[in-house]
Amino acid sequence: AKHSGRGAARLFDEVMDESIRFRRRIEGGLAQSIAREELSMAYQPIVAREGLEIVGFEALLRWNTAEFGPVSPGLFIPIAEESNLIHELGDWVLDQSLAVLKDWPGQYVSVNFSPRQFRRQNFVAHIVERVQRAGVEPRRVQIEITETAIFDDADHAAETLYRLRQMGFRIALDDFGTGYSSLYNIRMFALDSLKIDKSFIDGMGRERESAAIVHSIVHLGRSLGLGVIAEGVETEAQVQALRLAGASHLQGFYFAHPMTAEDARELAHQRFIA
Ligand code: C2E
Ligand code: CA
Ligand code: CA
Ligand code: CA
Repeated sequence: AKHSGRGAARLFDEVMDESIRFRRRIEGGLAQSIAREELSMAYQPIVAREGLEIVGFEALLRWNTAEFGPVSPGLFIPIAEESNLIHELGDWVLDQSLAVLKDWPGQYVSVNFSPRQFRRQNFVAHIVERVQRAGVEPRRVQIEITETAIFDDADHAAETLYRLRQMGFRIALDDFGTGYSSLYNIRMFALDSLKIDKSFIDGMGRERESAAIVHSIVHLGRSLGLGVIAEGVETEAQVQALRLAGASHLQGFYFAHPMTAEDARELAHQRFIA
């Protein structure tokens, strides 16, 4: 038993080494990604329930490397988040997202900020500076943050969000329902919208629990005067159910996949999802 225990420990060490090496390679690649022009953005429309008017687009980062091929942000964002790379990538994302606004007739761009970016010193001043430099009105920028970003230091987060909202930025609480927030506490935060996590939308047709959660989030949002954006909408049945539940905005493959800036520009001018 002693023997096999040692074997297992060695195997464990090897697996750990392998995963550390993998992370290092990703980190090394990411550090070069801007200079090598391997990054790009994709934009996915967010539509109003009534009439399917396109009100905004979510900006999503893409990384395509010679070494690994396309790498999912679900994989590389958490690695960037654990180092200071997230700041460099985040600045690049914000600048790109602000630049596309001049090509759209009035829609907003919805930009994801990781907890580490949000907690950065002078986060507000940093954003304001870039937005002003780009000559963009704050109401055309939506800031997407997750519950994790705001609940660890709720007082500081509340103050930051208040200042951003005073300046006219839109604030959306992303992946809502997956974190630890007590529903009661969200009153503390200056928000415009809740984004219902895709996992609940997926489950809606299958299980009562998901449908019940979606209904409570919509109800909560509406009673607090917030918009409620359902993300990851893939089917006609989900659209019907979400309309019935009262979600104000919808986003997902059913309407459009994330697309290039060029395609987003064309769609923005079309104004409605056909
Ligand atoms: P998220 O913020 O929840 O973004 C939504 C994700 O769902 C995106 O995946 C989007 O492509 C995908 N999606 C949209 N509609 C559908 C649908 O109908 N079905 C399915 N199956 N998926 C759908 P993506 O682009 O792979 O991004 C994954 C996550 O990576 C994002 O989740 C976000 O947390 C993070 N991320 C992406 N871009 C950025 C960025 O620029 N900055 C930061 N901090 N995080 C980012
Ligand atoms: Ca998001
Ligand atoms: Ca989300
Ligand atoms: Ca998500």
